Amino acid sequence: TPSILWFRKDLRLDDNRALHAAIDAGGPIVAVYIREPKLLNVGPLGAAQEWWLHHSLLALKNSLKSLGGDLLLASGRAEQVLVDLARKTGARSIFVNRAYERTAVDREIAVALKQAGILIQAFHGQLLQEPDAVRTGAGKGFKVFTPFWNAMQKLGEPHPPLDAPSHISAGPALDSEDLDSWALLPTKPDWASEFSKVWVPGEEAAQDKLAGFVDRELHNYKRGRDLPSVEATSMLSAHLAHGEISPARLWHATSSLPAHASEEVGHFRRELAWRDFCYNLLIEFPGLNSQNWDSKFDAFQWEYREEDFRAWARGQTGYPIVDAGMRQLWRYGFMHNRVRMITASFLIKDLMIDWRKGEEWFNDTLVDADPANNAANWQWVAGSGADASPFFRIFNPVLQGEKFDPDGDYVREHVPELARLERKYIHRPFEAPQHVLEKAGLELGRNYPKPIIDHGFARDRALSAYRSIR
Ligand code: FAD
Repeated sequence: TPSILWFRKDLRLDDNRALHAAIDAGGPIVAVYIREPKLLNVGPLGAAQEWWLHHSLLALKNSLKSLGGDLLLASGRAEQVLVDLARKTGARSIFVNRAYERTAVDREIAVALKQAGILIQAFHGQLLQEPDAVRTGAGKGFKVFTPFWNAMQKLGEPHPPLDAPSHISAGPALDSEDLDSWALLPTKPDWASEFSKVWVPGEEAAQDKLAGFVDRELHNYKRGRDLPSVEATSMLSAHLAHGEISPARLWHATSSLPAHASEEVGHFRRELAWRDFCYNLLIEFPGLNSQNWDSKFDAFQWEYREEDFRAWARGQTGYPIVDAGMRQLWRYGFMHNRVRMITASFLIKDLMIDWRKGEEWFNDTLVDADPANNAANWQWVAGSGADASPFFRIFNPVLQGEKFDPDGDYVREHVPELARLERKYIHRPFEAPQHVLEKAGLELGRNYPKPIIDHGFARDRALSAYRSIR
């Protein structure tokens, strides 16, 4: 009898345990991706991720076909689609990889399937370690990263990744929905027109990128990862978010580096472990993207001014590093990690806008938007999270720019109006003398904004709001 292989956040054939288990079951495989309605605590996918998903599903369908299989597309409630599929094909088992953000939903689906006489089996692979395995001495989840990381390391290496199979026997031919009818790609306007300059969704591209990263950028990871104009990070987050590559594959790929690179490798693995940590937080606290982890922040007096939010989102705040980050995000669906921290701090602490507004915007615009990483990092910046940066640590956007983009290369690339401004003023155009602005072709307030808020004033205001909830 055939088995159903249900793809979700694991759009890959490499290191895919559910796929191997389905093959081991012996019968042909009916592979399906289901477009589900909005689920509790899950999705909907942001617009940038829908763009990615479209291309990723095409890539997955092609690789399944090249092995003799296929990918069926269906939409509706998962339990209904799956019961229907089981009825049509005679399948009695369904194989999936766990996606921890949907644990509660999946539990309900499993119950519904069981009632219909169908068994669903779930496998590990989304994280480096199963969350159940990384616990405190008292058997609880960790709330602080360093002890979490220490405990993870004690468990040893993550599972060795499984290679993709060389053949898949396809189940009966069934009618698939047409991907184009899902309308995942933007049309008017096509705001994703530049995405394909920097991104190639799909697992083949993810594997190529990993190989290039291990050969090149990883050697400068520790120092380079904080500098937004330097290519020093893996750029694999969107591939990870869609499960096109497994974190265990990343971990093991870095094992081949010579001993002198061990510090770089250690740093990289630690960042990967942050992803596991964020998922552990999400499991502990499913409301991570909508509720303050630290409930004292419930009393915080946020402000919301539509024009401030728009200036931030459009990269028109008058602070070059903030504007560069927000424009990189809009144009390419991505932003460098350091700049994510600066732009998030600016929204929360300079503009005093609730972190949830920023989380939502990132969720809609990032190709790597991730329910755990995005929410946990926003709460980290806000100071409301578990193991968060304290609220009173407020980034000065000028000094941050000068420290991490000292020559202004990142700003010049993403804010072309400032391209000709001299280095000394690149992060503080509002202090430049008139003749310097003129030479650079700048008129503040006309072709580049004056700062929408004074940072010193904003800092005092934020601190006093914070004092009132302490
Ligand atoms: P690399 O430096 O190559 O790191 C490798 C992998 O480690 C990343 O792909 C990612 O999966 C993981 N990682 C690295 N840093 C972090 C971190 N701080 N927290 C959790 N995992 C991490 N990352 C997302 O994947 N999705 C998000 O939606 C997201 N939102 C963020 C929002 C804010 C406000 C901040 C400050 C950070 C956010 N991050 C998010 C974390 C981080 O910025 C990105 O993972 C990273 O920039 C991706 O680039 P990379 O793949 O080249 O990273």
